[in-house]
Parts: sequence; structure tokens; C-alpha cells
Amino acid sequence: MVAAPTIGVLALQGGVREHTRLLTELGARITLLRRPADLVGADGLRVDGLVLPGGESSTIDRLVRWLDMDEPLRAAIAGGLPTLGTCAGLVLLAQRIVDPAPGQQSLAILDITVQRNAFGSQVDSAEVELGTPYGAAKVAFIRAPRVTETGPGVEIIARHAGSVVGVRRGAITGVAFHPELTAEPLLHRLLLSDIGTESRLNQALAGH
Ligand code: GLN
Repeated sequence: MVAAPTIGVLALQGGVREHTRLLTELGARITLLRRPADLVGADGLRVDGLVLPGGESSTIDRLVRWLDMDEPLRAAIAGGLPTLGTCAGLVLLAQRIVDPAPGQQSLAILDITVQRNAFGSQVDSAEVELGTPYGAAKVAFIRAPRVTETGPGVEIIARHAGSVVGVRRGAITGVAFHPELTAEPLLHRLLLSDIGTESRLNQALAGH
């Protein structure tokens, strides 16, 4: 891993502070992203990785577009920036939303379909231990979406109550739950290890 990578946390609405705390504990530096220049400067990307937090996906979507952050975010993620989207962040990554709020769009990066608020009111909010390929994770579900379709190349990394709740493609990870609310470091460690992989790749390419 690069020494102290910088993670950009989209900080327009939602659970910004919990992600920031967890990533700081894991040794990362944090840049809060509130406008395009926080993400991209004259000399390129200003962060090594990205977190799209939970919150209200339609609100975050509206703010992202209003602030002209949609294209820079899309380009950065599509260009290989290691990214973790949680809950509303997963909705933002999805190519298809089955029940969007009026006018709601997304960054449309991951070939998946999501259904918002997919779990009934009795499991509206729950703390759950999930199995993942990286180990067990204790996480929180809050009005969580689920993934109802995955396209080719999208790996399923978590299921809950018969539904897909975690997916991954390359260095893009999307989960329907909140690891940051239970201080579960597994997914954030995965993000940091993706950055290590990316930077080694880039060094290898630069050496050619
Ligand atoms: N249901 C919310 C949405 O669609 C997500 C909830 C959350 O992020 N905790 O935005």
C-alpha cells in the first residue's frame, strides 16, 4: 500500500463523519469532496480512492448534478479510481434503479439494477453479521437497497435475507449496508488494498 493514501469522501449529505473516522483509524488521509476541484486539480486526480456514503440517494444525486460533480466522478471511477459505495452510494453507482424518486438519476457506473428501500419495515434497520469472501462483517442495514440484477463481470460478495447486498467489479465495491456505523473495517481495508494494487500497477506501467 502507498504510505497514507488520500481518500475522497463525497460530503454533500449522509454518513460522512463515520466513514472519515474509520478511514482515519486505518491510517488514511481524508479529503471531503464538495465541488469538482476537490476531486480533480490541474495536475489530475487529488485522491487515491473514493467513498460514496449512505444517506438519501435522490438528494445526493441532485446535489452531485447541481454542483457539476457527476461527470468528474463518473470519469474518475470509470478510469479505475478505487471506490466504495455504501447504501445510497450503491444506488449512485448502479446503472439501473427500479424505483427512482421523481427525476432521480445515478452515475451509472456498475452494470447492476437496484431496488431502493427493499427490505420490509420489520427489518428496516438491523445489525447483521454477513459472510463475504474477505471474512465476516458486522454491519448495519438502514432502509437498505438490494441488487436485483448483476451484469457480466460483476461479482456478488454478500447476500442477506435471500437478496444480493454486496457487489464488486475491479476496484469498485458497492454494498447495500453500512459498515461504517458498526466500525466494521473489512470493506474499507479492501478499498485501501485496492489502492495498493492500483498504485503498483501504475508504477509497473510507468516503468515501461
Ligand atoms: N434508501 C435510501 C436511498 O435510496 C438509502 C438509505 C441509506 O443510505 N441508509 O437513498
